[in-house]
Amino acid sequence: MGTENPGRPTFPSRPASSPFGAAQPVTPFSSTGPVAGSEPPPYRPTPPAPPQAATPFSSAGPAAARPGAPGFRPAPPGRFSDPSIPPPPRASNAPPPGGPYQQFPAAPFPPTTQQQQRAPMMGQASQAPPFPASLPAQPQMPFVPMGSPPSQSAAPAHLGPNAPPPTFQPTFPGYPSKQAGAEMQAPPMHSNFPANQGNYGPAPPAAASPFLSHQGGYVPSPPMAPPVGMQQPGSVPPMGSVQGLAEDFNALTMQTRPGTMDPLFDPKELPRPLEGDVESKNLADMYPMNCSPRYVRLTTSAVPSSQSLASRWHLPLGAVVCPLAEPPGGEEVPIVNFAPASVVRCRRCRTYVNPYMTFTEAGRKFRCNVCTLLNDVPSEYYAQLDATGKRVDINQRPELTKGTVEFVAPAEYMVRPPMPPVYFFLIDVSISAVRSGMIEVVANTIKSCLDELPGFPRTQIGFATFDSTIHFYNMKSSLTQPQMLVVSDLDDIFIPLPDDLLVNLSESRSVVETFLDSLSTMFQDNVNLESAFGPALKSAFMVMSQLGGKLLIFQNSLPSLGVGRLKLRGDDSRVYGTDKEHGLRLPEDPFYKQMAAEFSKYQISTNVYAFSDKYTDIASLGTLAKYTAGQVYYYPAFQSAIHGEKLRHELRRDLTRETAWEAVMRIRCAKGVRFTTYHGNFMLRSTDLLALPAVDCDKAFAMQLSLEETLLTTQTMYFQVALLYTASCGERRIRVHTMAVPVVTELADIYRLADTGAIVSLLSRLAIEKTLSQKLEDARTAVQLRIVKGLREYRNLYAVQHRLANRMIYPESLKFLMLYGLALCRSTALRGGYGDVPLDERCAAGHIIMTVTIKRLLKLLYPSLIRLDEYLLKASVPADDLKSVERRLPLTGESLDSRGLYIYDDGFRCIIWFGRVISPDIAKNLLGADFAAELSKTTLGEQDNEMSRRLMRVLEKLRNTDRAYYQLSHLVRQGEQPKEGFLLLANLVEDQMGGNSGYAEWMLQISRQVQQS
Ligand SMILES: [Zn+2]
Repeated sequence: MGTENPGRPTFPSRPASSPFGAAQPVTPFSSTGPVAGSEPPPYRPTPPAPPQAATPFSSAGPAAARPGAPGFRPAPPGRFSDPSIPPPPRASNAPPPGGPYQQFPAAPFPPTTQQQQRAPMMGQASQAPPFPASLPAQPQMPFVPMGSPPSQSAAPAHLGPNAPPPTFQPTFPGYPSKQAGAEMQAPPMHSNFPANQGNYGPAPPAAASPFLSHQGGYVPSPPMAPPVGMQQPGSVPPMGSVQGLAEDFNALTMQTRPGTMDPLFDPKELPRPLEGDVESKNLADMYPMNCSPRYVRLTTSAVPSSQSLASRWHLPLGAVVCPLAEPPGGEEVPIVNFAPASVVRCRRCRTYVNPYMTFTEAGRKFRCNVCTLLNDVPSEYYAQLDATGKRVDINQRPELTKGTVEFVAPAEYMVRPPMPPVYFFLIDVSISAVRSGMIEVVANTIKSCLDELPGFPRTQIGFATFDSTIHFYNMKSSLTQPQMLVVSDLDDIFIPLPDDLLVNLSESRSVVETFLDSLSTMFQDNVNLESAFGPALKSAFMVMSQLGGKLLIFQNSLPSLGVGRLKLRGDDSRVYGTDKEHGLRLPEDPFYKQMAAEFSKYQISTNVYAFSDKYTDIASLGTLAKYTAGQVYYYPAFQSAIHGEKLRHELRRDLTRETAWEAVMRIRCAKGVRFTTYHGNFMLRSTDLLALPAVDCDKAFAMQLSLEETLLTTQTMYFQVALLYTASCGERRIRVHTMAVPVVTELADIYRLADTGAIVSLLSRLAIEKTLSQKLEDARTAVQLRIVKGLREYRNLYAVQHRLANRMIYPESLKFLMLYGLALCRSTALRGGYGDVPLDERCAAGHIIMTVTIKRLLKLLYPSLIRLDEYLLKASVPADDLKSVERRLPLTGESLDSRGLYIYDDGFRCIIWFGRVISPDIAKNLLGADFAAELSKTTLGEQDNEMSRRLMRVLEKLRNTDRAYYQLSHLVRQGEQPKEGFLLLANLVEDQMGGNSGYAEWMLQISRQVQQS
């Protein structure tokens, strides 16, 4: 799996031929240094070149020079940046001449086109003030080696406990100080064919850097004597790593099955993540000023010092970023405003000022922690240094003490006025939608959220509905009720009323409310079966393209009319196991990908809510969310009476959570390392700029990292995530997360600092992407193989005498990896084949895995199972005492007692399991009169008794731990088949089930494969 680059077909890199000086997308972030156009320099390294004069922005290439471009007005981004993009829909009833669709090539979405698109955020030359950051590509300044060549003899002094505090920055004697005036960028080298970390040839042995003794806060690994029996076997690991291993080593011993020679593991000894996700604290002591792991987690909190070392780490090397995660412990992210000055950044690599930058020369200079350039401190930012070399104002400067801050972005970070929050709803009103009751739930929920939509009083809102025609609604504030305008020509879509379909919510509030009140009755007698979804999507685009925003799609029938109609291709048992299998999981019609690309370019993020009881082609529809930083919500066979509550909560969350608009994100790192692949829902705008038309706290993104240099000579690597976005209040902001990570020379350290959660998140995303080009089985095998390789390498590190055949050796940090790997292979997205999971459900599950945070993913893979009856029967418990129901049980049938009541919670649903001989009192109290009825027809509601109230409190608590999704409760009785099987038993991942391995067998398989070397 080391060669995996599943993003390739969908998020291609720039063409290799992209000339060095070609017009580069000048995004607001272009100031962020390594701009797309500057990579990949084919002849790097270049000799130091004289700095180029700071030319204004207008030299940004042909894009900015579109002749006849009108003066500034709020316009869809990209309008001026790409001559190929036609003007927006005109303000007339006529279809726009050469409407936006004519540019689509007839051929299926060619992967390279998106690379050639100009960046949507690019401004017209005259719109934005020139700022030096957006210089055209410049020759790169080669990095000056930091100090003398590494010495072989240096001992790993950094492993000692006496390392200086992390704030200490080494000096860099080899670095020339004469840099003033140089307007240089040092882009990381980007290749179109990222080296596969596993394929590097042997590199020189890792060597300690000369700075080791100065090193700031490298991991304190308590010195300890090598354990008895652990001598250093001549050829392998030096003492330091053996110590590390000794500290974290873990092993399982196989036993022999009674009466046979078959080996087995004792299930009682197998490690289980019953505490859920535990955020790694590895770096908290070393680098207390790092951002919280809630925002950024690395698969190992260390960077290997050499390519050869990296190639021995067979697990993914990379990061999982949740840029807008809710701050830990209710803290607030400090907002820093440098106005009227600009944001303080390194003028070469564009890193934002952060706690790891050091101030010198009496406070007049600061040294960039990422590229080591000595910068002038802007006069507005000057402060004296105290006797210890700290700025005297440090306590008033959160950007110098906190790993996470938000900068208010000045005008130069905008190419148009910050957009207002925009919500546009596209609702299916065909007969199946009406019958499901979805329309009413949606209308009522939207209405109940109107006061909480972010961005008052600027928020804009609009609606369209569709069956075989498209219906628009004039919501002009002067009307007393909305006017419906029907468009029935699906081949030549136009919008009948360009100005009043998207309106200011506060001005048109009463019209909007009237509309929502009448929406469900308006169509209650509709018998139209058809779905002109594609044309409706195009018209929604026309309405929204001026501003961008969030498009929420409520879809109940397979698109049947006009462009984008889909076939009832469904699932096909014959292609499973063949090389055609993955085609089922790919979008059928390029229309959806093309639309998604347009949406992204015009800052529109798409959330798809799908409700059908039949095949609805989530594979195609999901594409809309995939490339626009959106989300897929799937409610198969939706019935409002059953699923209404879930939809209500999830839609409410979607509408009211804090949202970052028209965002772009980039993660920077110091020279020597670069991010090569990205995994999640976004469109890649240049090699490393993620376009996120809307993003929120429930979205995470993963990326893989590789070393671009044979050997790293620094001891600390820095990462900085920058998310440039428009806040709902209308302020343009940059959220910056900074973290420092040690560079290590020992494989054992990489293992010791491993973060299973981040590894599983990356591994899962890679596996899902693999299912889009290969068989399910191949994706599962790849997961297993990667785990095996990782453990085998670890085993080889270990002293020979400990590699006994009946022992499985693994690092403490990875003790849950094997189980999560199994759970991933048995997840809805990956398990089995035809008939094991409905195709749409499988695709929807894949979409979920690609976006969720680590915590939620781990909960989904290894859900919690909790026994409840004892708690419910207790004589008295304080209302808030839920401690006793926090004890999670192993996910195996053996945990279930037929006298008990259990709750299984995977974060998406709760399954309440009634044991066969449960006390009738419990059933009666919880279910009321229905207690003896068929449970599938029973919904759980609060009864008028203490026991029922207690259960409701438990459910509420479970739901409140993470509100991104709502757990609907399903009731099932022991032995009630087949319901018990698919709801619960199939999800007890430790049990052998059908063709699936149980935990103990899985461990045995892995253990055997590890030993086959
Ligand atoms: Zn720098």
